[in-house]
Amino acid sequence: PPDVEELGRSTWTMLHSMAATYPTTAPPETQSIMKQFISTFSKLYPCWHCAEDFRGWMAKPENEPKVQGQDELGLWMCQAHNAVNVKLGKSEFDCSLWKQRWKDGW
Ligand code: FAD
Repeated sequence: PPDVEELGRSTWTMLHSMAATYPTTAPPETQSIMKQFISTFSKLYPCWHCAEDFRGWMAKPENEPKVQGQDELGLWMCQAHNAVNVKLGKSEFDCSLWKQRWKDGW
């Protein structure tokens, strides 16, 4: 099986980068594609226990994917990542800085 840490770092890079390049205001078709992607991703992510916990987190109404636009998606992705950080005993990332980290690059 893939290295869970390396897989995680690579995957978060892709997910946050997708948020950073998402339209400021996404048209309905794009929102629907992103929702579908997140749902499919959560079923195919090749760390099964990670995927299962992620689906459990997303199933809570307050954690439903926010896909209206870049700011919403970026914040949601940061919160999703923080939920994993907390689960793993890591410190939470300041989500007001997600764009600096993933769009501008520090
Ligand atoms: P990572 O957590 O991979 O973060 C990479 C970089 O992203 C950091 O250096 C920081 O600059 C930035 N960053 C950190 N937090 C945030 C944030 N909230 N928002 C934006 N940027 C941030 N591992 C497990 O062991 N068990 C699991 O159940 C598990 N579930 C996962 C579920 C998903 C959906 C994903 C994508 C990964 C999961 N992982 C899991 C992997 C785990 O999240 C880490 O990727 C891995 O432990 C490596 O951690 P890291 O400390 O190198 O940095």
